[in-house]
Amino acid sequence: MPVALITGISGQDGSYLAQSLLADGYEVHGIVRKPAEENLAAIGESSRLTLHRTDLLAPGALEDLVADVKPNELYSLAAVSSVFESWRSPVQTGEINGQVVVRLLDSAFRLHETGHDVRVLHASSAEVFGQTEVSPQTENTPIRPSSPYGASKAYAHLSVGVFRGRGVHASNCILYNHESPRRPENFVTRKITASVARISRGLQDGIELGNLDARRDWGWAPDYVDAMRRAVTAPRGGDYIVATGVSHTIHDFLDAAFARVGITDWSGLVTQNPEFVRPVDPAEQRGDATKARDELGWTPTTGFTTIVERMVDNDLELLA
Ligand code: NAP
Repeated sequence: MPVALITGISGQDGSYLAQSLLADGYEVHGIVRKPAEENLAAIGESSRLTLHRTDLLAPGALEDLVADVKPNELYSLAAVSSVFESWRSPVQTGEINGQVVVRLLDSAFRLHETGHDVRVLHASSAEVFGQTEVSPQTENTPIRPSSPYGASKAYAHLSVGVFRGRGVHASNCILYNHESPRRPENFVTRKITASVARISRGLQDGIELGNLDARRDWGWAPDYVDAMRRAVTAPRGGDYIVATGVSHTIHDFLDAAFARVGITDWSGLVTQNPEFVRPVDPAEQRGDATKARDELGWTPTTGFTTIVERMVDNDLELLA
């Protein structure tokens, strides 16, 4: 039975990934830091699922766990995953998003040296490209991050290449924004859909947001987890842009979310608050996933409006 180890299993992607691996008969190990978690409940019970309460920053703990579990597939998803939060905690962001990934790669390298078949997937990010003027971005776009989050991801991303050079099957999925009902409310998309649901029920007056003109390439989270699995099972490790190739503004997101509850004029319901504007914000992120399509056979299944509608519907159901 193949064995997978996931850091960040309680997150949006980690929970979808665990479900997908369990459905395919894997033994799944996940690292958690909190006992109860909504997304963990969504994974469901399985005798093949083991959760390890391991502090990622405790010296040697991660290394011991990898040596003990001996995974065939190691998914590095744990992260300070919000760019906004990374400006508040740049040091912790560097530790979790950067050093922890290098420690995982080093642990995998040690297993690899014993002849064990282990493959590593790092959840890299479009934020490694920072404020690039190249659009759409490809795997060859220069890495030039402009936030602590982007810099930490860039360190881990480049380290994946370093360990690949030492013989480890290691890949980066360069993920563009991807959403689902499991996205936490500290992300603008879920903040919008949860607020729109509450506004439509008369439970909230309005929404305060930052920059409404930022353009992002939004996909469906389970599709992005599928790309990760395809990268891990590819004959060789590699770097893959995972994106839809289509970008929309926050303004477009608001249009689609409010339309779902029958509100066409939302101008009086949204105010801009400079507190929510990031110190530096790429104007547009849009990825070219041609390589993932050609080499991994990956294509996104779900379009922008459907994603927004599913999120609003889920938030309406939660209120009901
Ligand atoms: P998420 O929902 O925010 O999940 C992050 C996970 O990391 C959670 O399980 C969280 O655990 C864990 N984590 C954070 N800090 C930790 C710490 N100090 N110690 C242990 N665990 C910690 O993120 P996601 O959306 O699933 O994203 C998965 C990965 O893809 C992340 O690496 C993210 O940076 C990357 N990525 C995501 C997107 C996107 O649009 N979703 C885009 C590009 C890249 P708790 O539950 O205990 O907080």
